[in-house]
Amino acid sequence: MAGSPHARKRQRSLGYWGHRFLSWRRWFRSFGSQATRQRAIVRRDERRIPKGLDVEGDSGIAHRVVDRTELFDGQSKPLQPYNLTHEIVHRLSLTRETIANPNPVLDCNLTSEDIVVRFGNTLMGTGGRTPYHIHIFGDGRIEQVLPLTIRGAHANGYNWRSVAVALIGNTDERACSLAQYDALIWVSRALRGLNKGLAVEGHTYLPGASNDPYKRCPGLYLDMNKVRAAVSDCPVVTGDVWKGAEMVGFVV
Ligand SMILES: [Zn+2]
Repeated sequence: MAGSPHARKRQRSLGYWGHRFLSWRRWFRSFGSQATRQRAIVRRDERRIPKGLDVEGDSGIAHRVVDRTELFDGQSKPLQPYNLTHEIVHRLSLTRETIANPNPVLDCNLTSEDIVVRFGNTLMGTGGRTPYHIHIFGDGRIEQVLPLTIRGAHANGYNWRSVAVALIGNTDERACSLAQYDALIWVSRALRGLNKGLAVEGHTYLPGASNDPYKRCPGLYLDMNKVRAAVSDCPVVTGDVWKGAEMVGFVV
């Protein structure tokens, strides 16, 4: 290239010092791009979880992370990723008939589409908005419905600063499946990797977060201390924590 007629012409037109300036700038910039490249490689190696692929939890169970953010209808306010303080864990089961839920559905038949449609009903208590960012189904499948830059409608006073993760099933009456628990740990670690200092908490353990004082969410069969202990060893990422977030399968 340097010897091409075009380059020679440019060199002539810039003059000696003009050319020297350009080559100096190219040399200076090469440091920046090299450092950026190196950072990207470190991140990729640290996470090793490319978007959309199957990931493996502690128990050796494979989980598929599925991007379902196309289901989001644009009805919620934005969430500022840098303000996040909590990952809030919920249970979701619509097996009982109530005024708000006239058509009960078995946990194994519940889908992300179904959840979005059912919570579009304002009687469900979310103002017609989609409640959770991430659904974890009985088979360990992880589906992200809301981007992490959009608020869920899930916990009074915490929506503006938390990510909502829902286990499908009634964990106040029975334990979740091993695959589900394993997926929850994976999700919690990945979220903490994205945002250092993100506290993992159960919905009703947060004072005032529910309108129903008798509600237990996620309930008796999910030990939040155990969850916290399991994710406490995850690597803390410093610096621009939300860049490269797509590498862990979450849409930011
Ligand atoms: Zn809840």
